[in-house]
Amino acid sequence: MINDAVHTPDHQQREVQAVVFDFGGVYTASPFSAAAEVGEAAGLDPSVAITLLFGPYDHDTDHPWHRAERGQLDLPACRDEIMELSVAQTGIALDMWEVFGVLGKRMTGVRQQVVDHTLRIRQSGLRTGLLTNNVLEAREFWRPMIPLDEMFDDVVDSCEVGLRKPDARVFELSMQRLGVTDPSAVVFLDDWPGNVTAARNIGMTGIVVDDDPADALAALDAALGW
Ligand SMILES: [Mg+2]
Repeated sequence: MINDAVHTPDHQQREVQAVVFDFGGVYTASPFSAAAEVGEAAGLDPSVAITLLFGPYDHDTDHPWHRAERGQLDLPACRDEIMELSVAQTGIALDMWEVFGVLGKRMTGVRQQVVDHTLRIRQSGLRTGLLTNNVLEAREFWRPMIPLDEMFDDVVDSCEVGLRKPDARVFELSMQRLGVTDPSAVVFLDDWPGNVTAARNIGMTGIVVDDDPADALAALDAALGW
């Protein structure tokens, strides 16, 4: 069970103070599935395509997408570098604009049940945060998709702070901005398992969100003792 860590023996003693959510793949369709689709259409193994387009996502590296997410590279330059990389490694030019095209079609709606759950958690008195790896150029598209001010006490966007998941420092920054000092008082949700592992490694309770978020929301309720 991917979310077994929720049921760790000490969870009864834990008092959750804050819940931190990822954006893409939690409130919307997954960008990684869109990358897999573009890769498959080009005749590549989906996992190879995801790694070429988004870099080795379990790590924080100098891959062009990671630099763009840290606000160190603009999106057109990022796209060019990724195309060069993919041609060099596979002979196929993977185009980030195509990924965005597929993603645009899939991101027709938000997962309202996750939005509603977030609002309920905040209304219950717990602090809520958003911690997103994102690029500057996407800001005008993703921010209006959900009522950010109503849902979250704080939003950490990787390209604004120069740090990205899975770097432990960005999890700590999110906690600090929410006024929480004990990581075991934080529940973190993300669709990328490597980010969830990183959160668990610093002591947070981590929950992986699948294409159907129902299991993750049930695991969240269990972590909150609801
Ligand atoms: Mg995500």
